[in-house]
Amino acid sequence: MDLNFSHEEEQFRSEVQAFLAEKLPQALADKVRAGLRLTKQDMQQWHAILHARGWLANHWPVEHGGPGWDAVRKYIFDVECALAFAPRIVPFGVNMLGPVLIKYGTPAQKQYWLPRILDGSDWWCQGYSEPGAGSDLAAVQTSAVRHSDHYLVNGQKTWTTLGHYANMIFCLVRTDRQAKKQEGISFLLVDMNTPGVEVRPIITLDGEHEVNEVFFTDVKVPLENLVGEEHRGWTCAKYLLTYERTNIAGVGFSVAALRELKKFAATHMKNGKPLAADHYFAARIARVEIDLANMSTTNLRMIAAVAGGGVPGAESSMLKIRGTEIRQEITSLMRKAVGPYARFYVDEDYDATQGMQDVGPPDAARAAVSYFNNRKLSIFGGSNEIQRNIISKMILGL
Ligand SMILES: Cc1cc2nc3c(=O)[nH]c(=O)nc-3n(C[C@H](O)[C@H](O)[C@H](O)COP(=O)(O)OP(=O)(O)OC[C@H]3O[C@@H](n4cnc5c(N)ncnc54)[C@H](O)[C@@H]3O)c2cc1C
Repeated sequence: MDLNFSHEEEQFRSEVQAFLAEKLPQALADKVRAGLRLTKQDMQQWHAILHARGWLANHWPVEHGGPGWDAVRKYIFDVECALAFAPRIVPFGVNMLGPVLIKYGTPAQKQYWLPRILDGSDWWCQGYSEPGAGSDLAAVQTSAVRHSDHYLVNGQKTWTTLGHYANMIFCLVRTDRQAKKQEGISFLLVDMNTPGVEVRPIITLDGEHEVNEVFFTDVKVPLENLVGEEHRGWTCAKYLLTYERTNIAGVGFSVAALRELKKFAATHMKNGKPLAADHYFAARIARVEIDLANMSTTNLRMIAAVAGGGVPGAESSMLKIRGTEIRQEITSLMRKAVGPYARFYVDEDYDATQGMQDVGPPDAARAAVSYFNNRKLSIFGGSNEIQRNIISKMILGL
């Protein structure tokens, strides 16, 4: 197994770097690097720039607008974007729904919805989780009852990321209460402007409004918004989750965050010496750097296997656990490094339009927000405990 990049792959890396140098707006990269809040317009701007270059839906087949990249090129692209502090692509339409429609949608659904995902006409959110259905997703209770030309939807979704920006939500709904729980679920596309849809904010640990609850009261959804077969939505749901877990290790994000941490530790003074010279702190940085190097190698091994025709198995669970632990450790170290300057619940600190003067070292104020926000990494996309269960069954055979 060759873990080195070929000449063509290195050329591709240079092409991505040149694109980022030319097209990634500096103001946007500065916001991402400093951990400032991104507006809806910021996210739409980056979406449009990638779409114009043909690199937005980079895992879609060419006939639907993808660039035809293999796993290695996708990896290089993700890493370079993170290192350049590009915003993340909002995943719900492009990374999640798109592949489901391509595999299970009718020709009419593909023709109508896919171009709208690409050009940003629709902002999608993910209506999977409910108060009683998270890790046990097949327990969803939101019901959809079939009438002559529509489903009538009632129930509640929760943790709906960026649902307050969305005009469309894809939902898992229960269409058969008698069947076994995985067999009575359908996959439905719901227009959030339909009467009876209500979005309520959830304010998380970091003081931010990123997630929501979505309530459905007698919401009429046209029958043609069913994706795949009725009662067979679990198949779509599982297929989508494999896409939710791509790039799960987030190597580029960790490399970029670690660089920032080391830069900070080299210049920030503690007891008359740079923090980097503090043995305890230096040892923790060294440990996370070693963990990151190990994980990158595992990630490359998996990519080489996929490039050789394999499919990612329980390795993606290993990458999810290590990747999220490493990112959380880096944010934890950064928060410790800035000490009392890491403030949170101070809205102005991370709103670029407020032009607040930092108290303490530059960007220090956001270290607490980032620390608290990143707690989510080990919960969503399948919690780390669930990933351990997968490893114990598939690798250890327990
Ligand atoms: C910030 C954030 C954004 C999110 N965005 C979305 C979104 O946009 N759309 C969406 O649909 N969902 C979203 N989610 C929901 C996410 O997918 C769920 O939180 C996740 O699946 C866990 O479910 P739960 O919160 O109900 O916890 P539970 O499933 O109730 O789990 C509680 C705890 O028990 C553990 N546990 C549960 N079952 C087992 C088991 N069998 N073995 C061992 N341990 C177990 C879990 O690991 C966890 O620690 C988001 C969550 C967060 C935090």
